[in-house]
Amino acid sequence: MSKYIFVTGGVVSSVGKGITVASLGTILKSRQITVSVQKLDPYLNVDPGTMSPYQHGEVFVTQDGAETDLDLGNYERFIDVNLTAESNVTSGQIYSSVIGKERRGDFLGGTIQVVPHVTSEIKERFKRLAQKSQADVVIIEVGGTVGDIEGQPFLEAIRQMRNDVGRENVLYIHVTFLPYLTSTQELKTKPTQHSVNELRRIGIQPDIIICRSDYPISEGARDKISLFCDVQRQAVIPLPTVDTIYEVPLVLEEEGLGQLVVEKLGLKVRKKDLGQWWELVRRIKEPLEPVNIALVGKYVELQDAYFSVREALCHAALYHNRCLNLLWVHSEDLERDESYSLLGSAQGIIVPGGFGIRGIEGMVKAASYARNNEIPYLGLCLGMHVMVIEFARYALGSHEPNSTEFYPDTPYPVIDLLPEQKVTKSKGGTMRLGDYPCQLVPGSHAASAYGEGLVYERHRHRYEFNNQFRTLLQEAGMLYGGLSPDGKLVETCELKNHPWMVSCQFHPEFNSRPSCPHPLFRDFIYVAKDVLREGAQPSLPLSA
Ligand code: GLN
Repeated sequence: MSKYIFVTGGVVSSVGKGITVASLGTILKSRQITVSVQKLDPYLNVDPGTMSPYQHGEVFVTQDGAETDLDLGNYERFIDVNLTAESNVTSGQIYSSVIGKERRGDFLGGTIQVVPHVTSEIKERFKRLAQKSQADVVIIEVGGTVGDIEGQPFLEAIRQMRNDVGRENVLYIHVTFLPYLTSTQELKTKPTQHSVNELRRIGIQPDIIICRSDYPISEGARDKISLFCDVQRQAVIPLPTVDTIYEVPLVLEEEGLGQLVVEKLGLKVRKKDLGQWWELVRRIKEPLEPVNIALVGKYVELQDAYFSVREALCHAALYHNRCLNLLWVHSEDLERDESYSLLGSAQGIIVPGGFGIRGIEGMVKAASYARNNEIPYLGLCLGMHVMVIEFARYALGSHEPNSTEFYPDTPYPVIDLLPEQKVTKSKGGTMRLGDYPCQLVPGSHAASAYGEGLVYERHRHRYEFNNQFRTLLQEAGMLYGGLSPDGKLVETCELKNHPWMVSCQFHPEFNSRPSCPHPLFRDFIYVAKDVLREGAQPSLPLSA
């Protein structure tokens, strides 16, 4: 039977609870303990798929096509597992399921209440994941902070679990933040005490408190938290801000978190080995020559909107012993002819996914710049649409080629809705989602990157390359390096007369891992790193 670790957050959000959970997974996995993870999101949306990236950051897509919270991406990268739809539960899912059951008459005669009906539905999701994954430990992160109205049913459900499955099978970890007061130059523990009080009020006594802070945490502060929150001294774990997120498992391990969890849950440990992780962090921290990559997008004010893209670029840069210098370019700036200087120093240009017309013409300009100046280009989903639009405009000598997403009446709809999407009106969960096969065409950049014939990649889109234009664009110099196995859908395209201008209809960024970069990202950086641009020249030795 699986054991459960429930992780709650206190004081403020955005202190890296997701990374902490992912790191706990890394630590346990390094002891040969199998782990699965679940994120509970208290909002009423069924999934984040219909939310703006400004609200929510990136929407992470699982292999089985669930649109999920970006924390799942961190879990996958840190624990090196492929998660499924069961790993993200929202209040929206819970309520719609309970109400659906009520309408069907499953509770006939009863009054439907938060306790027990909603809480039972939540616990059902915990148990379902445990059953399906057969993991030794299921880590469950409760989104938001303790005290939020929306989070109450989730907290009540995790409280009940202690009795349901037995105290020895459940562990509660609370991640809090210690604010720093400049006037007195000290870290304050009072907000942590309050948030633990709030937890206790609903019947949860944390076993471990992880203290996030931007400053070193004194022994005195640890003592105080231990005393006031009634947690063992060694179970107050400091987690100061570190240079790279990949260092977090090492910090937590050094502070004894792994050993503590193993003891408290009575887990069987075979062998502990974090060697690979130490090596990864050592390499990340080495002074490496930068590679300048321009990311041209429309949500760049909120960098979390491109979380997996940024990570995938970092992994690929590290593979080539480079550090990523990401130049964030707002596509609307390019429309106003601003920010061109950033493109001028970029050794590679990436145009990631997105929806809607805003900023599209700026992305087209970036693609045009990459094509004309032979700058390596990687287009991801929308980035492929942009590349096709730009190339079609060049090939046809017209400004009219477009995607029907942006210009429904274009005479040259080079990107158009999939036939099945034309009849779909509702928005939630109706895109082409999750893994689909892609057959690679020998001789293409795409095929040489992957080094294998058939690959599976994750999708999230409604629009697709329009086959009516396949021959025309091919004759003008476009090559289709990856197709659906029946040959009907263009999955990747590239330009013949360009060093490396490659785009894909799918999202390879979701499959990149710190020690195993995605092949397309890896080859993109491989070509980009040797492009010499202003400010990108390797530094000369100062003296002979
Ligand atoms: N907006 C485009 C579509 O729906 C691209 C989506 C994306 O980049 N994920 O097809």
